[in-house]
Amino acid sequence: MMQETIAAIATALGEGGIAIIRVSGPQAVPSISGILKSRQKLTEAASHTVTYGHIVDVDSGEAIEEVLVTVMKGPRSFTAEDVVEIGVHGGLIAARKVLELVLRQPDLRVAEPGEFTKRAFLNGRIDLAQAEAVIDLIRSKSDRSHTVALKQAEGTLSKRIQALRHSLIELLAHIEVNIDYPEHDVEEMTSSYIKDSCGSALEAIRKLLQTAAEGKILREGITTAIVGRPNVGKSSLLNALVQESKAIVTDIPGTTRDVIEEYVTLSGIPLRLLDTAGIRETTDVVEKIGVERSYSAVEEAELLLLVLNRNEPLHGDERELLGKLANRQVILIINKTDLPERLDVEEVRTALPNSRIVPMSVLQEQGLEDLEQAIRELFFEGQLEGADLTYVSNARHISLLHRAADALNDAVSATADGIPIDMVQLDVRAAWELLGEIVGDTAGESLIDQIFSQFCLGK
Ligand code: GDP
Ligand code: ZN
Repeated sequence: MMQETIAAIATALGEGGIAIIRVSGPQAVPSISGILKSRQKLTEAASHTVTYGHIVDVDSGEAIEEVLVTVMKGPRSFTAEDVVEIGVHGGLIAARKVLELVLRQPDLRVAEPGEFTKRAFLNGRIDLAQAEAVIDLIRSKSDRSHTVALKQAEGTLSKRIQALRHSLIELLAHIEVNIDYPEHDVEEMTSSYIKDSCGSALEAIRKLLQTAAEGKILREGITTAIVGRPNVGKSSLLNALVQESKAIVTDIPGTTRDVIEEYVTLSGIPLRLLDTAGIRETTDVVEKIGVERSYSAVEEAELLLLVLNRNEPLHGDERELLGKLANRQVILIINKTDLPERLDVEEVRTALPNSRIVPMSVLQEQGLEDLEQAIRELFFEGQLEGADLTYVSNARHISLLHRAADALNDAVSATADGIPIDMVQLDVRAAWELLGEIVGDTAGESLIDQIFSQFCLGK
């Protein structure tokens, strides 16, 4: 069925010291052998070894590029087919030239986006959730989201889903027996078995869904706005966060011209900081608009860091702002603890009794850890560190889990209502199938095509 051999540049398109061309399929080794000049013939190379040589233009006999060629025989390869990877030193131009020569070989065509990963899936080497994790890996913006995607690629989510499905299959088998041998009078036992079994499956699904919110945060970051009057220390805090983050800080041009997003990572929690342009320009008129400007960022943010100056009494603007934040996730930063207290902290506490207060001296680099802790407590239940990192973060998985839970709830109430057991069986079976869609066991072809079309070329 999978007779075609495919090839593509597998490394990022752009400047780079080396590039890799990946070839997969039955013709991979003989085709590349045909255009490789090397001491040992590639067709005789052992699996998982590297061969040094030159790619030659067979028509002119000219050596085009010095290469290192890795042979990985199926099924011990990424696609589970024979794979050849050609490493070229010359970057993209050289890679394109080599790819062109590779594609001149008979029975070889250029790979579609995601086709290597799709083959790995179709050949049973990875499941659908793992394939989706490969997309997440490519796109992950923070260290932690990278770790989560990596775990998923390794199959931790899939294992849990398969365990759940296994328990449902056992339940289905039990129900089946009851349908086949009703005279055995196991009806009573079966209904309590259904209740227990669906109950524990529902609990497992609930736990997975609970991780969804956390997973989303890890993937996309907490949308955060730093707000406050001029001169309270917003720019200083932003700079401290950026410095603390150490990880990659990316400027992403926003949809509107004057909104800039910035990503920082605090102990692995990614924050997507809004409107940092306004904070950065300390002397700009923009700053003078102060609280006024803050309102637009306030609306969009999931987390507000409201900075107050401990050395100044509460300003009318701030009182007004506090009044509008009652239902929001706010951390009150009382900055400048190195200076005498002239702010009525009690008034602030009374205005927002449910918000955490973090005293800081950004100038003296004090309080940043407490701020991290406050953010962690606000968005993550329990320990973040040491958790097993099975996070459901994919919208498709979340919706399937919800639908599976609905089906199981239907099964439980149908049993309670004394509805015939073969009807209950349909609900359990539906749950089993919905869970199967997550890992791809019961996924249709169009869904699979749609998922793999999201990949970039060469993956
Ligand atoms: P913004 O207008 O809210 O962005 O405030 P800035 O970050 O520009 O800070 C205003 C002034 O307050 C600057 O001179 C900072 O050096 C100073 N500042 C910031 N944080 C502290 C602090 O913790 N203690 C003291 N004493 N000064 C601070
Ligand atoms: Zn500023």
